[in-house]
Amino acid sequence: MTIGVDDDESAFSHLDDSKATEESWLRICSKLKGEVGEVEYRTWLTKIALGPVDGDEITLLLPTRFLRDWVRSQYGDRLSELWNQEVSSIRRVELQVARPGDPTAPTALLLEENPTPATANTPSEPEDTGRTTPEVKSDIVASLDTRFTFDTFVVGKPNEFAYACARRVAEKPSSVGFNPLFLYGGVGLGKTHLMHAIGAELLQRGNVSVAYMSAEKFMYRFIAAIRSQSTMEFKEQLRSVDVLMIDDLQFLIGKDNTQEEFFHTFNALVDAGRQIVVSADKSPSDLSGLEDRLRTRLGCGMVADIHATTFELRISILEAKAAASGVVVPAKVLEFLAHKITSNVRELEGALNRLIAHANLFGRPVTLEATQDVLHDILKAHDRRVTIEEIQKKVAEHWNIRLTDMSSARRARAVARPRQVAMYLAKQLTSRSLPEIGRKFGNRDHTTVMHAVSRVAELMERDAAFAEDVELMRRMLES
Ligand code: ADP
Ligand code: MG
Repeated sequence: MTIGVDDDESAFSHLDDSKATEESWLRICSKLKGEVGEVEYRTWLTKIALGPVDGDEITLLLPTRFLRDWVRSQYGDRLSELWNQEVSSIRRVELQVARPGDPTAPTALLLEENPTPATANTPSEPEDTGRTTPEVKSDIVASLDTRFTFDTFVVGKPNEFAYACARRVAEKPSSVGFNPLFLYGGVGLGKTHLMHAIGAELLQRGNVSVAYMSAEKFMYRFIAAIRSQSTMEFKEQLRSVDVLMIDDLQFLIGKDNTQEEFFHTFNALVDAGRQIVVSADKSPSDLSGLEDRLRTRLGCGMVADIHATTFELRISILEAKAAASGVVVPAKVLEFLAHKITSNVRELEGALNRLIAHANLFGRPVTLEATQDVLHDILKAHDRRVTIEEIQKKVAEHWNIRLTDMSSARRARAVARPRQVAMYLAKQLTSRSLPEIGRKFGNRDHTTVMHAVSRVAELMERDAAFAEDVELMRRMLES
């Protein structure tokens, strides 16, 4: 048996009487290898050993907690599926550390904080470039989601700047002022979509190598390279691409060694005139916890914010997606969704997809009633999403006033303004009526709430810093 925990033969001694299981496993392994590629397979999946089958559950063993967590998060669902296809009685896959309770078992995460001397001393310009095998190289080359293109990205006020920057980079990578391109914004607003779109466009134009990976993957790749003593290859691969895109950079906060590695890669690429695209949930200056020099460099090119969606953009997105699906969704329903699901595009899309699937399945037209019925749980969750109390608490904290001042009669600007913001957010983020909101703010009249809402909207138009503050609050409350 070639697949196993290196030094714990006992872990699969029970296999003697289950040859069939072992054969199934070998078939699963070969499928997995085909799906994930040789390198990925070798790095993570050859470490798995078969454990016992118990009823509808099979246990798979991994030598360390780190490996178990990684395999679980990346391949857990797929492993369950494959097992179920092979042995229909197996419905669940349990992943366990082979030697539970052994505190000496090394974990790769430790490497993150204590790199081996070999890595620390690795020269940054390795001379032996011939060692990169094509299969290793293909491993970092972008695997792009073909649905995420510029054509399928709906442009509106909140994202038009980011979109324009992304297009520009795709058309003319490494142009002055656009390198790096730093895209930031809340969850589900299209950062990943835009990055894939850049990649797709570049590849279509041909003759460029593009690498795209999440910061998380970057870290695991880096750790895997340290484990397999192939950091040189890893560095070389990264530094040989024309365009490097790293998604969700905030993940690197607190991961100092990976950050350091990224910083060097970043510099090497930019110095060589290659393009970098990075996304994060905050602007470079707000990414506290990133090393200063990296933060500074990230902010040196073009920084583009994707704002929370507006009602108009949500409608446009829904229209585009409904049209693409071929199912007729009445305008009334689209408006209802755009009104109810304001958090982000991912959730909006999820809700629409569910409606469409339902319509296709039952062949019934989409109506408002059917929508409310089919999306019952989503809509309920959204109604419950933010409470006025939470809004008051967050706003009071942010502007440093007492919570009781949300309902007090004090009219000093320092108190009144945050209170107005809280009323504005209550109107935006909850489905409460104006009188209901007024009651929660010390029994104020609904006209006071109305005034607060329009006043805040007006101020946001005039004062960009204030608008950003309010927008930030909204994001915090919605996340
Ligand atoms: P992020 O990376 O910012 O969290 P994603 O790029 O993953 O968000 O977007 C979430 C989902 O919403 C994706 O399916 C994406 O295609 C879709 N989406 C986001 N913004 C738009 C847009 N402007 N037009 C069309 N689809 C969008
Ligand atoms: Mg993303």
